[in-house]
Amino acid sequence: MSGPTAIVSACLLGVPCRHDGRDKRHEETLRALESRGLSIVPICPEVAGGLPIPRSAAFVEHSAATLPDDAAAGRGPLEGIRVIDRGGRDVTAELSRGAEQALEAARRFGATLAVLKQNSPSCGTRAVGGRDGRIAGEGVTARRLREAGLAVRGEDELAALRDDGGQQARRGGTRGAGTPW
Ligand code: SF4
Repeated sequence: MSGPTAIVSACLLGVPCRHDGRDKRHEETLRALESRGLSIVPICPEVAGGLPIPRSAAFVEHSAATLPDDAAAGRGPLEGIRVIDRGGRDVTAELSRGAEQALEAARRFGATLAVLKQNSPSCGTRAVGGRDGRIAGEGVTARRLREAGLAVRGEDELAALRDDGGQQARRGGTRGAGTPW
């Protein structure tokens, strides 16, 4: 695979991999990726982590945003996030496995950007589902990829993918959270 590459939530591309067996195809995301000439690596971390379709919806019990500074507290990258499904089953291990698979795919294909589905306990970049509704925070995969140095955006943050982002990447530009995608 040559050129700039993005990891993308499979449901945004039209894959019916959500908990309810549906997709969340997002035309604006598809257009934005295409117009920047990005190669796409689709992934559904929850399915990659071993969960079926359909599956019980899950929520984040503690999000990164609600915790004190993880590094200062000496916690590892995924500590502090616990994900429970509506049946009461702890699915944190499956989501963590999925996050590792996403990171492995990002490394294998040299992805420097991830465009992920907002509000998901795996993919949310700024908000995730909590026990009583949406809460600020990031999902397990979003956090893993961001901490590994990828620029991570939700499908509702496409304005952050600056028009010159693809060109900079094609020129071998910078990567990571400061990348002006
Ligand atoms: S939001 Fe992420 S984990 Fe959920 S269905 Fe889409 S790709 Fe899979």
